[in-house]
Amino acid sequence: MSDPDILAELASEAKRLVALGFLACTAGNLSARRPDGLVAMSPSGIDKGSLRPQDFILLGADGQPIPPDARKPSDETRLHLALYAAGVGAAVCHGHPPYAVALSMGESSVVRFHGIEMQKAFAGVSSHEQECLLPVIDNSQDMGDLSRRARAALRPEMPAILVRGHGVYAWGRSVSEAGRHLEAVEWLCRIVHLCRSMPPA
Ligand SMILES: [Zn+2]
Repeated sequence: MSDPDILAELASEAKRLVALGFLACTAGNLSARRPDGLVAMSPSGIDKGSLRPQDFILLGADGQPIPPDARKPSDETRLHLALYAAGVGAAVCHGHPPYAVALSMGESSVVRFHGIEMQKAFAGVSSHEQECLLPVIDNSQDMGDLSRRARAALRPEMPAILVRGHGVYAWGRSVSEAGRHLEAVEWLCRIVHLCRSMPPA
């Protein structure tokens, strides 16, 4: 996919995730890695629903803008780059979806999904009978600490991590797949929440 196409896809997916309520109050960030290794990253502190393709900032593997750029990339750029370095895929979407954040407050280290058809929204999952464990890591304002925790918690069957009291990082082979994985995590967390809220039969 060419660079203009990737940037257009990032802007379009940002609008979709805003509409879903995952990027409230300028929260969240999106990125995609180009075939040449440069990463297109959303800027910091801007309503992600207003992003245009040209608003994304190109970064090298060290997080420095290429070419030099006065705009400020997301504060969470370092974690995106750490995920790419771990080989997770070609795009990362981060948001603060409410059911996932709520569940994270009461979980120790994983949220378990099992027996739910929508687990098949995750790439590589072909049956509701496959157990999918969503890692939960503690939040930190130190992006180095958060990056180390995220990389240590990665699970092969789960294209996402949940940061306690904060939000979800999801990734995929494309921007649309990363966004779908973020949406799937929130949908499944909502089901888990509803199941726990129902009185015993
Ligand atoms: Zn966040």
